[in-house]
Order: sequence, then structure tokens, then C-alpha cells
Amino acid sequence: MNHNPIDQSPAFNHLQESLVSLTRDLVLIPSAEANPKERERGLEVIKYHLESLDQINLQEFRPNGIPSLLALPKGIRTPDILLCGHVDVVSHPDLSIYRSTITNGRIYGPGAGDMKGALAVMLELFREAHSQYNGLSLGLVVTSDEETGGYSGIRYLVNEIGLRCGVVLIPDGGSLTEIIVEEKGLIHLRLDCKGHEAHAARPWLGVNPLQQITEVIVKLQKLFESYKTSKNHWHPTCAVTQIHTPNKTINCIPAEASCVFDIRFPFPHSVDAILDDIKELLNKSMNLNIIICAEPTQFEPDPIFLNAVEQVTSSKPALCHSHGGSDGRFFSYNDIPVIISRPLVGNLHTENEWIDIESMESLYKIYSIYVKDKLKL
Ligand SMILES: [Zn+2]
Repeated sequence: MNHNPIDQSPAFNHLQESLVSLTRDLVLIPSAEANPKERERGLEVIKYHLESLDQINLQEFRPNGIPSLLALPKGIRTPDILLCGHVDVVSHPDLSIYRSTITNGRIYGPGAGDMKGALAVMLELFREAHSQYNGLSLGLVVTSDEETGGYSGIRYLVNEIGLRCGVVLIPDGGSLTEIIVEEKGLIHLRLDCKGHEAHAARPWLGVNPLQQITEVIVKLQKLFESYKTSKNHWHPTCAVTQIHTPNKTINCIPAEASCVFDIRFPFPHSVDAILDDIKELLNKSMNLNIIICAEPTQFEPDPIFLNAVEQVTSSKPALCHSHGGSDGRFFSYNDIPVIISRPLVGNLHTENEWIDIESMESLYKIYSIYVKDKLKL
């Protein structure tokens, strides 16, 4: 009897081998916000992978010290199709977990699903397509701050450098046959509250900001209850994620406190309308600070892409909502069509994150058919 956890999946074909080995090389690099040097190293590996293509211009950008890489065919500033990915992953304090294993046809490892496996698909496809066709209007951009808002990555490239394209493919949401057509908007909010310090034995002499903050949290819960309209949580939500006070003393009422909220909301809600409702609940001792905000987005599905999905998977793609946001919003705000779908993934943002290897090959085939059909090759 064999007790070893041997991989029962069939041997990998040549394409799967390349996708697996590139994904595993990328998983080894702990390219999180907490490790800026590793983020650079992640982009170096990608650059190295693309350098042999002499018909491609590689440009690097580094606003606020955050690197990104843009690969465009020589002589083309606005590609008809742009592949878009990010090399950053969420931070795990223990760097020794940035390893991968292969079990049951899946690659397990931090960042495998979001989105180093999908990045490997794009890199292989980009290389193969450009070796096959000269002057192909296909670009690739890889950033390193998607997990922290995309402000120095895609926002910078689109809004400040003027990056444009006919359509952008972002394998960072949905699934193989689930195409994202709507993403929630986002507000990260900090509420600062001033009170009046006092000894905790004489609370009537103080004004307790922690108490005021907890009262606001209850009011906010009621407000967000009132937004509830649908099943599947497709309505605004609000999560308290941090409560702070500088106070370290048990018997002291602090002079100040703050708390942080993560708010998500779909159309037709907007940043301004939600903030107006929240401001109604605050008193004069409270100050509202917006950390980041983004309006919700809606994407039009491209029938050529839906057709490619159906050809490869033999099933009709579903058009889906996403509770999270993506870098897609920066393109969408500039009226650039965005297509979001990805291989089968799971346990995202944990050390047991996984990506299914066959579905990586399927996405490769979908992208490859789409590029040929869209560019009429
Ligand atoms: Zn991602």
C-alpha cells in the first residue's frame, strides 16, 4: 500500500510544463508591499522572460518607487489588445511559506491564484504570439501595486502616461466561464474622534471618544441595513476593520480615538451619495478622512471573447458581478473595454492558494483564439 500523497493527475503536456515552471518560479519570490526588493525581483524575472523578443520595446516606470513594466511592439503606442497583470501578492510575515507544491493537478502556493499563474499564461502567450506574427498589435503591462490600490501602477500609466488600448484583458477576477461585467465601488474611510481625557473613576468629567465611535458604528450598521435590497449581497456593505486609541492606560479615558471602515457598493450608489449619508450620522467632534475611494464599474462583454470561451470550454459563459474591485476600473473610467475572467483558483490571499493547471491551459487557448479573431489574423 502506498501512503505517499502522489499526484494522480496525468502527465503535463509541453505548454502545461512551461506554465507550471514559470508560475512556480514566480511564487518563490515574496513580491509583497512589505518587501520592495522582492517586488523589483519579480519584475526582473518577467523582464528577463521578454528580453529575447527583439520586436518588443520594454519600458519601466517607477513612480513613488513602485515599479511597473510596459511591453509594446516597436512602433505601436496604442495596442489593439493589452494584457494586464500584477506581480505583487499580499504580505505574509513568514517568508518561508513562499514555496509551491503540485497536488491533484493544482499548483498550491501564495500568489499562485492571484495572480502569478495567470501572469505565466499571459507571458507565454505574449511570447508565442509575437514569435509567430510580426508587428502584432498586442501589448503587455505588469504592475506591482494592484493589491494596494493600483495608484502607482495602472492609475499612473493610464492617467499620467496616457496608456491606451483597444481592449484590455485582465485575468484577475471571475472564473474560466464567468466573465465579470460589474464591480463594486470602494471607500476606505478613517473616522477620527476627539474627546476629553479624564480619570476612569470619574467618567462624568471626560468625553469618551471610544464610546462615541462605538455609537457611530451602530448607526452605520443601521444605515447599511437600510441599503439592503437584494439577495447575493449585491448592495452596499460596511466592515469595521480597525479601532485605534493611543491610550495604554486601563483607568484613563482617552482624549482621542479613530476607526477604519471598508465600504463596498454597486451601481447606482456613488461615492458622494454614500459619504453624504455617513456625514449625517457624525457629530462635530468627528473628522472623516477618505483613504481611497473608487466608483463602481460596469463592463460590456465582447461577443468575440464569449465565443472563444465557448469554443474552448464547450459551455456558455455566465456574466457575473464582483464584490471586489480590480485595476480594470482605471481603464473603464477612460472608456476602454475591459474583459475580466481567469483560470480556476481558490483560497486566495492565504498560504494554501491554488490554481488549476488544466484551466491555465484553457485560458491560454481562449486568449489565443481571441487574439486571432479580434485582430483578424
Ligand atoms: Zn489580483
